[in-house]
Amino acid sequence: MAFKKQLHVSTLSALSSCGWKYYLRYIKGIHRPRSPNLAVGSAAHKANAGNLTYKVASKGKLLPHHEVQDLARDALNGEAAKGEGISDDGLKKIDAKKRGQLVDETVRCADIHYHCVAPEVNPGTSVIVSDGEEITVPDVERPYVLEMSNYPFNLAGTIDLIDTVDGKKMIRDSKTSRRKPDEFIAKKSIQGTAYTMALHYTDKVPYPIDFNLDYLLLYKNPSSDDHVLRRGQRTQEHEKGFIRMFETACRMIEAGIFLAADPGSFMSPCSFCEYRHGDCIYYRDPKTVAF
Ligand code: SF4
Repeated sequence: MAFKKQLHVSTLSALSSCGWKYYLRYIKGIHRPRSPNLAVGSAAHKANAGNLTYKVASKGKLLPHHEVQDLARDALNGEAAKGEGISDDGLKKIDAKKRGQLVDETVRCADIHYHCVAPEVNPGTSVIVSDGEEITVPDVERPYVLEMSNYPFNLAGTIDLIDTVDGKKMIRDSKTSRRKPDEFIAKKSIQGTAYTMALHYTDKVPYPIDFNLDYLLLYKNPSSDDHVLRRGQRTQEHEKGFIRMFETACRMIEAGIFLAADPGSFMSPCSFCEYRHGDCIYYRDPKTVAF
């Protein structure tokens, strides 16, 4: 059977924030180091997932705290070694002080997760089909592929954490941020809708399905409210909206239409885009280009 191409939520998000960014990254295959914030988020995510995977395997125990901190340090150093999260100029320009600061931030995120999230979630296991065989996997970083029969792409991705509350499965996902998220963030994200669709169809969990976001907050001065939980829920109506977006994305990709973002718009993605220093034909840095 021919392999059907896949669309991930991250690619859908890239396409909806800036079509040209999607083109550069996913069609042209140009990779540029991402921001330090993304590197910290990704490294903390790995440490937290390692701790929760252990919790599943050990039937409820957490890793020793110092081991999770080691995972966080190693993960950030791994990101840096790949050239991620440093700057558009590359790893060589980063000094030891900056690297140390990123390691500290990653460990801080892992600490917040260790104390505020890991003790209260209860991921289990699921049976999934991989390469035609049924295997049992932890409900942490669980891959999914949804067959989208009327479209040229399937929907695929990885669900960060499936928790079980009062006997019903729900999704819980962690984010790192330097600012408190808006109150309704978990009710809006398309990631939440895609994950809950996956749970609905692969695990037969009925709607409505809860989707909660744990924010690990990197304030300048650490405070007691550096963990914030935002609650959301998804229904069939959310799914309908998502399918409309998915269909539009399929059409844009097939037609090769990639509209660039407006650099002057409020909260423009250009301000923190890794392609803004030369790869992008639409963006000119106002600080260096006079016209
Ligand atoms: S700089 Fe702006 S227009 Fe160019 S790819 Fe990035 S987000 Fe898109």
